[in-house]
Amino acid sequence: MQGKKRATFLKVRCNDCGNEQLVYSHASSVIKCQVCGKTLVMPRGGKAEIKTTILGVVG
Ligand SMILES: [Zn+2]
Repeated sequence: MQGKKRATFLKVRCNDCGNEQLVYSHASSVIKCQVCGKTLVMPRGGKAEIKTTILGVVG
């Protein structure tokens, strides 16, 4: 990590139902939980805002 904004995939857990799924760190559209539909990621014109628990970074 040298301050570069590198796009990655994040493993997140839905705060409502506990479902775990992968999301793109620079998503350009809203990502919702595949199980309950809760909004997990909001696009912010760059790095997306993660609205739920981040478990880790993948790749
Ligand atoms: Zn959910």
